[in-house]
Amino acid sequence: EPYTPAEDRYDKAEFRRVGRSGLVLPPISLGFWQNFGDERDLADLRAIVRRAFDLGVTHFDLANNYGPPPGSAEANLGTILRADLSAHRDELIISSKAGYTMWPGPYGDHGSRKYLLASLDQSLERLGLDYVDIFYHHREDPETPLEETMGALAQAVRSGRALYAGISNYSPERTREAARILADLGTPLLIHQPSYSLFNRHVEAGLLEVLEDIGAGAAVFSPLQQGLLTDRYLDGVPTGSRATQGRFLTVDQATDETYLERARGLNAIAQERGQTLAQMALAWVLRHDTVTTALVGASSVAQLEANIAGRENLEFGDDELTAIDELAID
Ligand code: NDP
Repeated sequence: EPYTPAEDRYDKAEFRRVGRSGLVLPPISLGFWQNFGDERDLADLRAIVRRAFDLGVTHFDLANNYGPPPGSAEANLGTILRADLSAHRDELIISSKAGYTMWPGPYGDHGSRKYLLASLDQSLERLGLDYVDIFYHHREDPETPLEETMGALAQAVRSGRALYAGISNYSPERTREAARILADLGTPLLIHQPSYSLFNRHVEAGLLEVLEDIGAGAAVFSPLQQGLLTDRYLDGVPTGSRATQGRFLTVDQATDETYLERARGLNAIAQERGQTLAQMALAWVLRHDTVTTALVGASSVAQLEANIAGRENLEFGDDELTAIDELAID
């Protein structure tokens, strides 16, 4: 059935500036790492994407290897874009990445110019797009000179295949160095994509400061700790949940007593704030101005809606932050 986007999609939407750039992003963006591969029903994926767009979620985050199988998340989004959103390309920020293993042989992995530019072309083909808005190097590659990797990002931008350059999973030191190289090449570093959540606070030990300093934003991934920072596992492990898939989250993690104790404590604080645990977890990462957007995964329209509904209560009192600190431990 044809799709007509909600006319009021921007009425309640607020946007946040990415560092000191001209670009703004929604506070909550949709990530395609899990749940968008070929094992899923395309109709379900399409419903999530449509609902996201209707709710003012203008940013979709992808990578060459998202699936499973690798590449299928981009191909599935490509199908959905062609069917539903081709008239709205200029309202969307679509990102992709290269840096993890993608194809056999030495040129389908890591950080060479050879890999990055070939991978970007493949991503564009799968997405059915002429350009992505943000192209990221997905992880550090200590074997490749940073000048080469950043040079490839800058060329991706100069050639029109990407509008902005980003890096992901880089240390604070290498981030500073990457930003300097990119600035010299005339393509400023727009954004860094690190993990960050109530249970994973490494960015507070230097990275956020560096980003503030160099004027880049952060798009933080797994802000719900893959579901552990929601009510999904508080009463047992539901069938079909990510923990039962056992690929990146395990049943052991979801049933661990220390985990459950902390999650229940955080859940109680969230309830006092009139929020769900997931909503508080998202508000908490967004309390830093440097964190432009939280990249959230959703396996259903209902999860997406529940998370977006939390975009109102973003303020925390000092007493709340202190109580949270007791439980928000890596
Ligand atoms: P989250 O921490 O948001 O976890 C998402 C999962 O949490 C969902 O699949 C769902 O689990 C559960 N969930 C979400 N909302 C709710 C809710 N309201 N109630 C109950 N459960 C809920 O993030 P992801 O780990 O999925 O990562 C998000 C994005 O970040 C990725 O899609 C990707 O774009 C990016 N990313 C980037 C990486 C990088 O190296 N740059 C690495 C990893 C992610 P269930 O499936 O069980 O329903």
